[in-house]
Amino acid sequence: MRRLPRRQPRQRARTGSDHVLLRPRHWLVHRARRRAAAALPALRDHLLRLRQQFPRGPVASRFYLECAPDDVLDDWTDERIWTQLRLRLGDEGLPTGTITEKAVVEMRSFVSDPMRYGRLFLVGDAAHIITPMGGKGMNLAIADANVLAHALRAAVHDGDDEQLAAYSATCLKRVWNHQEFSRWMTEMTHEAGDDTLAGSFRRQLARARLDRLFTSDLAARAFADMMAGGDAHDK
Ligand SMILES: Cc1cc2nc3c(=O)[nH]c(=O)nc-3n(C[C@H](O)[C@H](O)[C@H](O)COP(=O)(O)OP(=O)(O)OC[C@H]3O[C@@H](n4cnc5c(N)ncnc54)[C@H](O)[C@@H]3O)c2cc1C
Repeated sequence: MRRLPRRQPRQRARTGSDHVLLRPRHWLVHRARRRAAAALPALRDHLLRLRQQFPRGPVASRFYLECAPDDVLDDWTDERIWTQLRLRLGDEGLPTGTITEKAVVEMRSFVSDPMRYGRLFLVGDAAHIITPMGGKGMNLAIADANVLAHALRAAVHDGDDEQLAAYSATCLKRVWNHQEFSRWMTEMTHEAGDDTLAGSFRRQLARARLDRLFTSDLAARAFADMMAGGDAHDK
């Protein structure tokens, strides 16, 4: 078996990296045992801020509630969670259930560019953090692993280092494409709800983006393409 080549072009760690605390608001994530109200993930933009629901089997759901950046878990009693869900869903009769997990998730984005330092290859969240909007993080991690696995095989078995040399550039093309989409979606969904986050001008921009998705077939198809993976742009 062949060892990986030692000599690599000089690279600076974290060149051009972007570490941004994306939004001044975070998400409260919680899982509750109650019958899922919707068969598909539901996302609602409301004047009282974003919430999302993802059914987890027939009797449980995961909910996301936008919360203030300095909120801690103790600020969010079960009672407050259910009250906020009823308000943001506009459903006064929403049945409660046992909340089995709670967490505050920081909304942030980060890209290590390049994703390689000498013989060290970064994969997944170690190389890039993406906001949960669009559900891309795990998919990017798997795509990185796939590229690296093929590149390692070619290097170790066939003595061909070309794919390994291109690993970072190959992955970063996809990573930046999805970072841009996730940022676009985060701003659209978070800023459309109220003025206090980014002001009334940006709120109207966000609402215009949302409206376009419902009035333009082309815009809706481009959105669906990126949600489904954006493969047309990844090649
Ligand atoms: C609220 C939320 C919702 C999300 N929703 C989605 C979604 O819908 N779709 C999607 O694609 N992505 C989603 N993601 C992102 C996704 O979870 C991550 O991008 C993905 O898990 C990254 O995979 P990874 O293997 O790089 O890292 P991880 O999944 O974090 O795996 C790293 C592993 O390494 C282990 N580890 C750490 N340090 C050490 C050590 N020193 N020694 C040994 N082991 C160690 C950890 O315990 C962990 O098991 C979401 C993330 C969040 C926070």
